[in-house]
Amino acid sequence: MKITVVYDNEVSKRGLTAGWGFSCLINNDILFDTGGDGVALLHNMKKLDINLSNIESVVLSHGHGDHTGGLSDLLEEDQDISVYVLPSFYTALKNQIPAKPKLVDVRKPMWIREGVFTTGGLGTYIKEQSLICLDKRGVFMITGCSHSGVHDIMNVASKFGNIYGVIGGFHGFSDFALLKGVKLISPCHCTSYKRELAHAFPKQYVRCGVGLVIE
Ligand SMILES: [Zn+2]
Ligand SMILES: [Zn+2]
Repeated sequence: MKITVVYDNEVSKRGLTAGWGFSCLINNDILFDTGGDGVALLHNMKKLDINLSNIESVVLSHGHGDHTGGLSDLLEEDQDISVYVLPSFYTALKNQIPAKPKLVDVRKPMWIREGVFTTGGLGTYIKEQSLICLDKRGVFMITGCSHSGVHDIMNVASKFGNIYGVIGGFHGFSDFALLKGVKLISPCHCTSYKRELAHAFPKQYVRCGVGLVIE
C-alpha cells in the first residue's frame, strides 16, 4: 500500500502548494478528500506525477469545503470517477457540481475495493467517514478532520486487526494514550496538537505535508 499526500496545510517538498484542507491518494486509484481548492490540487498531482486517469474513486470524508473544494475541477478532468458521499451532504453536493458525477450514497460501512473499507458516517453533530486500509503490516487509518472523534474511528479500525498507522486531520484530539502501540503517527491538516504529538511519540511521528509518501 502506498499513501501520497496531495493536499495539506503544509508542504514537505518544494514546488508544491499548501492550502487549508486535506487530500491523499491510496495506491493510485482511490483519492480520499479533495482539499479546498481544485487548482492547487491539480497542480500538486501533476507535480507528483499522478496520472488522473488511474483514479477510479473519490471518497469524501465530510461536507466541509476544505475537503470537497477540489472535486469539481477534478471531475472536469475525469468524469468517470465514482464519488462516495454520505447521505448528510449527498444532495448539497449534487446541486453544487455542474457535471453529473457518479455519486455513491454511503449509507453504511462498506468496501471501496479489496483492502480499503469506509467506516460510513460516524459522529452525531458532523457526520464523517474515514478509511481503513489493510495490508501485511496491519490496519492503516486515514481521517479527514476526525470530527466524529478519533476514539470512535479507532474502535471501528481495530475490529480489522492491530492499528499500524494513522494519518489525517485529528482536530482537537488530545487523548494521546489512545495511540499507544501505533507504529506510525502522521497528524496533519486541522490537528490542534501536532507539536505535542511529535513530543509524545518521537519515534512514531512522521511530519505530514504535500508530497509525503508512506509505503
Ligand atoms: Zn471539517
Ligand atoms: Zn478540515
